[in-house]
Amino acid sequence: MLSTEVEISPLAFSKIIDWASSNTEREVGGYLIGEVKDKRVIIKEAVFAVAESNPTFVAFDNMIQFRIIEELEKKGVKDAIVGWWHTHPGMGVFLSSTDITTQKIYQALLPEAVAMVNDGNNYSRTQKQNDFKTGFFRVQGAKAQKVNYSVMTDPNKLLSHLTEYLQQEENITNIIQSSTASVANSLKDFVATKELIEESTAVLKQVLTETYTTLKNLHQTEKKQQEEVQQKIQALERKVQKQGKLLFYSMSAALLLIILELVFLIILLIRS
Ligand SMILES: [Zn+2]
Repeated sequence: MLSTEVEISPLAFSKIIDWASSNTEREVGGYLIGEVKDKRVIIKEAVFAVAESNPTFVAFDNMIQFRIIEELEKKGVKDAIVGWWHTHPGMGVFLSSTDITTQKIYQALLPEAVAMVNDGNNYSRTQKQNDFKTGFFRVQGAKAQKVNYSVMTDPNKLLSHLTEYLQQEENITNIIQSSTASVANSLKDFVATKELIEESTAVLKQVLTETYTTLKNLHQTEKKQQEEVQQKIQALERKVQKQGKLLFYSMSAALLLIILELVFLIILLIRS
């Protein structure tokens, strides 16, 4: 079970990086949403669910958990809560004894469930991706075990998750607002492109016509040449036939002459 890997969507990951690096004075956390597929935990979404927190403690708002489950059922997707995330501001990435107890509860509900621990304090100063500390854990026995993870990069998977994400109404409104300007720009480009297309179409048509004419001429020349060659061949054939006949006649004449001579010889022999 410990070899099970974790794959997290860039969307969920960037949300957590944002929440972790903008809360450097207190712990924050929430739920990880996704699915378990072929023993792999696929995290598609991250939710912020802080009820109470201080620099070394965070308590989740359980009502949010119920709302998530309700929302997922309404959407009719297979997704579920596959783990939880929280931060250790400036403390590094590990599971505390409290974290181990919490993680045991998650694993009792879903054996593949993971705990994601993050420390975004260095990152908040440097803004260098490598300075963001993160780790995924499971508990085996009473010990925390690190779990390998990767960030989802398959464009098809990303697109399908993004489509799911877009189905949420609030996000659609945001995206429409932000994309209106870019759509307007694209339209401007499109009009310019259209003119360009019309222009090139005319040029293309002309080129095609010229090419067609050239090809037609070439074909006719070829046809004429072929006819000439054919005529020459036919003339040659006739010549050969004529010569063949001539040969036949001359051979027949020669044969006839020999026979006549033979007959003449026989007559001479009989007379003597
Ligand atoms: Zn902790």
